[in-house]
Amino acid sequence: MTDSRESPGSGLGAPLVVLKDVNKHFGDLHVLKDINLTVHEGEVVVVIGPSGSGKSTLCRTINRLESYESGTITIHDDELPSEGKALAKLRADVGMVFQSFNLFSHKTILENVTMGPIKVRKKKAAEARSRAMELLKRVGVDHQADKYPAQLSGGQQQRVAIARSLAMDPTVMLFDEPTSALDPEMINEVLDVMTQLAKSGMTMIVVTHEMGFARKAADRVVFMSDGAIVEENTPEEFFTNAQSERAKDFLGKIL
Ligand code: ADP
Ligand code: MG
Repeated sequence: MTDSRESPGSGLGAPLVVLKDVNKHFGDLHVLKDINLTVHEGEVVVVIGPSGSGKSTLCRTINRLESYESGTITIHDDELPSEGKALAKLRADVGMVFQSFNLFSHKTILENVTMGPIKVRKKKAAEARSRAMELLKRVGVDHQADKYPAQLSGGQQQRVAIARSLAMDPTVMLFDEPTSALDPEMINEVLDVMTQLAKSGMTMIVVTHEMGFARKAADRVVFMSDGAIVEENTPEEFFTNAQSERAKDFLGKIL
């Protein structure tokens, strides 16, 4: 498989997240239709598609925030657990960054990042703190460590949310429109952090309308429409040579 990213040696590894014939309904609404998707270790998959096509539900299902009725989802060959400690571990292993930053408002930035590792990963406070500072530095907000979320810009808060997920040493990171709620001038600072993460070899599933990011960072683009994966391809092929009418129509509206 070709690696469209600039980083040499970040070739794709073994299958990591594997969805087979996954179906989900919300009442009468068939929201995920026979979804088959394999994400490999180190792969960056960008999911695009019209509003309401099931992109968020797909992410939430992989993190078991939603149940599914049929099919299988495995991570490293293990079927997703549905409850108990195994579920808590899954949520830590599968990092998720949402459109809204979801930081704890009454905790400092540093506490937001150290909480999970201390509570869920049972790390010692000092160790969690030094790792958190390292990650905050990596996303460029280490100088804000003792502030509260409300004192930071949206772009800074979203970068903290990314650091918080990374602090759990996730197996895979899911991003659901992480820049959609940001003022335009803050979008790039978040995309830059995500691009760096992609280059570092993190396995990522990213729902976004940022086609520049998709072209630059994605190994593969998956196009969803009406609950189904309609087509998938390398970004180069997808953006220049989309096959389905629905994808062509969608690209015509956003590009
Ligand atoms: P996207 O992220 O692509 O915009 P979503 O996954 O949010 O799409 O939604 C897919 C469809 O499922 C939409 O029709 C939406 O209204 C519906 N939906 C999403 N969440 C729920 C829910 N909790 N209950 C009922 N319907 C839902
Ligand atoms: Mg959505």
